[in-house]
Formats: sequence, C-alpha cells, structure tokens
Amino acid sequence: MSLIQLSSSPVVLRLNRDLVRTIKRGHPWVYADALRELPKAKPGTPAVLLDNKRGQAVARGYYDPGCPVALRICETEPDVALDDRWAERRLKTARSLRNVFAATGTTNGYRLFNGEGDGLPGLVADVYADTAAVKLDGDGPVGFWDAAEIAEWMTREIGLSRIYERRKERGAGGRNLVGAVPEQPVEFLENGLTFTADVVRGQKTGFFLDQRDNRQQIRGWSRASRVLNVFSYTGGFSIAAGAGGASHVTSVDVAPAAIDAANDHWLRNGFDASQHEGVVADAFEFLADAARDRQKWDLVVLDPPSFAPNRESVPKAMTAYQNVIEAGARVTANRGLLAAASCSSHLDLPMFLECCEEGVSKARRRGTVVTIGGQPCDHPTPLALPEFRYLKFVLLRLD
Ligand code: SAH
Repeated sequence: MSLIQLSSSPVVLRLNRDLVRTIKRGHPWVYADALRELPKAKPGTPAVLLDNKRGQAVARGYYDPGCPVALRICETEPDVALDDRWAERRLKTARSLRNVFAATGTTNGYRLFNGEGDGLPGLVADVYADTAAVKLDGDGPVGFWDAAEIAEWMTREIGLSRIYERRKERGAGGRNLVGAVPEQPVEFLENGLTFTADVVRGQKTGFFLDQRDNRQQIRGWSRASRVLNVFSYTGGFSIAAGAGGASHVTSVDVAPAAIDAANDHWLRNGFDASQHEGVVADAFEFLADAARDRQKWDLVVLDPPSFAPNRESVPKAMTAYQNVIEAGARVTANRGLLAAASCSSHLDLPMFLECCEEGVSKARRRGTVVTIGGQPCDHPTPLALPEFRYLKFVLLRLD
C-alpha cells in the first residue's frame, strides 16, 4: 500500500525571500517566483524547502515546476517524512472532522477531504452515500497522491462501494477507481432531504455541498413564502425552501439538465408538483422580464457562478454582482428577504457587501443584514489561507 506515489528522492528547493513566518503559520503555497531556482523534476516530486538565509530546512511538500504554485507544503516539521504513515494520519484526522455527519444520520453527502484545509494539498473527495468522487487539483497532486490507493483506503475505512475520479477540467473524462461507474445520479441525504448527484457529469462533483448550511438557513425563513431561486442548479435551495413550508418555489437555471433534476428532487421529497415551477432561462433575462411584469417574491435567492475567475476580472465581476443583486432586489417584496451568494475567492466579504449595498441602492431599496454565512464544517480552511474561504452568503431584508 502506498497512499502517495513512491518516487525518487526529494528535490531541494530554496526560498529567495523570507517567507518562513508565513509558512510556519500554515500558509501552504509557495509561488515559483519565491524560489531561488526551479530545478527540472516531474510534477508531484516530493520536495524539501530551505530558507533563504542559512539554508535550513523549514518544510516538506511536493513540487510542480510548471505551476505558478510551484510548491504545496504538506508538513511544516521538516524532520517528519512524507510517507504512508504521514498520509494516513492526515486522512484519519480529516475523517474524524466529519464524525458529526455520522452522529446525526440525516446527512450522508459531504466533503471528506478538502485539500489544503485538511492538510492534504490538492486532494478533494466528496462522499454521496456509498459513492465518492475524488478530484486532484492539477498535475502536481496527480503526481504526488496515489488516487487508486486512497480510494482503496476509503473503501476499507468508510465502507464506500464506488469511487470515481473526476478530472479538474469539466468534461475531460474520469476514471473508475473502485466498483462500477456511477452512470446514474446517486441518491443521498442532506439534513433529511433527498437529493441526487451526477458524479460523472454534474458540476463540481455533482452537487454544491458547500451551500449546505446556507440552505438550512433558507429553510428556516421560507414558511408560507413565495420563493424564487435563481441560478438554482439542481434545486438545492428550492427543496430546502419546500421543506421549510414555502407556498410556492420557482427555480431558474440556464441548464435544462439542472432544471430536470430540480423538478425530480422536488417530487422525490414528496412535495406537491403544483407548488414548484422549474424554468430554463437566462437569469438576467428572467429577472428583467419579471421586473417588467411587476412580479414579486417574498424570498429571492441568487447564487450565480463565479464572475471573477482571476484577479484581473475583479472590477468587472463586482459590476456583474451588483447588477444581479439589483435585478433580484427589484423582484423582492416589500420587507421580503434577498439572499445573495458569491463563490469567487478573489472577492472578499467586504467587497461583496459593497456589491450588495450598491445593487440594493440602485434598485432604490434599503437593506438590513439579517445574517452572513460561509462554508460548512466539511470545507475547513487553513487559518493562514484566506483565499480558501471563498464562499460568502448574505441574507438581507429589504425595505
Ligand atoms: N445554488 C445552487 C448552485 C448554483 S451554481 C445549489 O445550491 O446547488 C450556479 C448555476 O448557475 C449553475 O447551475 C449554472 O448552470 C447556472 N447559470 C450560469 N449562468 C447562468 C445564467 N446566465 N442564467 C441562469 N443560470 C445560469
């Protein structure tokens, strides 16, 4: 058994500036421009990092000379070898952080390994009942971790029967690691509600597990409300609203397969078909038409895809968020609720709140912040890596 690929002896890398404090605090990335030289090596080769002053070893990790993040740090005690025992300790620690789900028994869809947040750089695994999807975040992680052995470990330790490896790029194909390929969407529970995840073809690994706590929040605010869920994907927030007693829910997404799944999820949970409408439409057009027709909803959820894929696109993305929030505010009833989310790591919470303020103001409304949410406990992040806390969820009451 080997959870990491047994490769050659580690390459030695040296910092060209003093980043030791940052690294010791747990920031797990060293960019290529912070290294004195970039020796030739295969992506995922283990590495020892030396400081820029006396050349003392400060950390261990793995190296990818072709990646802007040239070194991912695994261990800040350089005397600790990166071997199977090390890897298994990390896997077990990650697993124990998820005991909360086993304890309640109402959620069996969760993220088991959250990469850097679990001290397992580049390794992500999502569990859906007896099935899991593993995702390695680029060539470095592919060269370092042994996905097949990790899948075996998951089968043994967690009792999973099917494990599928997704590629980083969508649609780039995947491979089967354990059991049969989950060709059909896999059924699982989230807070007692039934969903399915298309592990092979769906977005992310089939479901947006990161919005779990925020869906619970919406569930609590939905009683006797007309709810509009824009960028609904497979209806996560819609089903939560239905469970919370919404009188009617409308789900809007541009992807027909997502709306089919949202309709299916509504029925799977035993709700009345007449109380849900799935609409395949562009969100901006839908909201503009609804505003023109003076339609209003008591609770509006806006969960768009990331508008800011990189730092350069932040100004444009902020305008796009403002526009969506403005459009959502225009169809939110007086004293109704507007929930807006952003999953872009390049926008922090103050920036996103600024978008909310601008958007709401352009719709000539005033907002009260009711609550602010983020990622759930199965999406842990290193304290020193704010970029990993990408999810922002703001619930506003609009007057
Ligand atoms: N809230 C969802 C996740 C939303 S992901 C959940 O809890 O599961 C963002 C969704 O926006 C995707 O499903 C994508 O298909 C959809 N989308 C992207 N651009 C869109 C557009 N212009 N109009 C409508 N939907 C869009």
